[in-house]
Amino acid sequence: MLKRRKTKTAAVGPIKLGHQYPIAVQTMTKVFTTDVAACLRQIRQLEKCGCDLVRIAVPTQADTAALAKIVAKSPMPVVADVHFSATRAIEAIEAGAVKIRLNPGNVKDKNDIRRIIDCAKAHKIAIRVGVNEASIRDLKSDVAPAKRTALMLKEMRSYVRLFEKAGFDNLVLSAKSADTVRTIEVNRAIAENFDYPIHIGLTHAGLPEDALVPSSVAIGTLLAEGIGDTIRVSVAGDPVEEIRIGKQILHSLGLTPHKGPELIVCPTCGRCQVNVVALAKKVRKRLEGITKPIRVAVMGCVVNGPGEAADADLAICAGAGKGYLYKQGKKIAVVEEDQLLDALMKEIS
Ligand code: SF4
Repeated sequence: MLKRRKTKTAAVGPIKLGHQYPIAVQTMTKVFTTDVAACLRQIRQLEKCGCDLVRIAVPTQADTAALAKIVAKSPMPVVADVHFSATRAIEAIEAGAVKIRLNPGNVKDKNDIRRIIDCAKAHKIAIRVGVNEASIRDLKSDVAPAKRTALMLKEMRSYVRLFEKAGFDNLVLSAKSADTVRTIEVNRAIAENFDYPIHIGLTHAGLPEDALVPSSVAIGTLLAEGIGDTIRVSVAGDPVEEIRIGKQILHSLGLTPHKGPELIVCPTCGRCQVNVVALAKKVRKRLEGITKPIRVAVMGCVVNGPGEAADADLAICAGAGKGYLYKQGKKIAVVEEDQLLDALMKEIS
């Protein structure tokens, strides 16, 4: 198990963030907040795929009014995403958000920030204090990368000081960039300098097929170093996809147990005896809805397949026109190719 960096604990409604608690996976709703029914529909979908926390944008008063209705029916804790407006922040807290995301850099008046802090204290909620590379004050486009990290850290230090001076420490820190390397570097610096829980992710990573690698590299590298207490994979698209990728990152680092079936598929090569991709897709479809934590492998040949799938609970290793069914590394049946899928599912059930 990877060792996590020691942190304070942030209380986010029923969820606690910090090194002693599971890493929370979060995303944002991507429908209009004023469409309460659509928001709740999306939140329920997210809950089903293992989302822990959902964030909702509240740009207008109509949105904070809708937020109250969403909070009342949401199956998971709701975080409000606030920009520029202290009034929206206070309305969101009063609407029942368990945390607000605030980039103090875009609330110009320090008195406004103090009003938000007082309200958050009174409602015992957390605040995620964010520094985004794109919005830091002294940043010019020709500033060298190393200096950018230093500027982000300096900005974060000034915000944390402001909150601590006001006696508020239910904080989660986040420093975001669209750049993978800078995201890693600035979060390392934040982890060295502060002991608050950290929210990690890239500001924007692109369409799902483009976002997968940069997000996995940035978030995975930091988590492997013990940094990060809540994660958000930013993808232009379905938030369910963000949660699916986030859960896979955690699982691949052994930071969360795999829930439900896990499908392993060989990469295929010149020894392959069947259409592995088509067979694996069929297996995946048939595994949907199964909640058993079972590891299933689909391998293209009997040369290396049995060995490579030795740690699977069940494996299909294809031969010419037939396949071999393995259970925990032991061959249990030889089945005609067209009956492989059914034989596997029978064994699973
Ligand atoms: S299991 Fe067989 S077909 Fe699949 S990659 Fe390994 S050697 Fe190639």
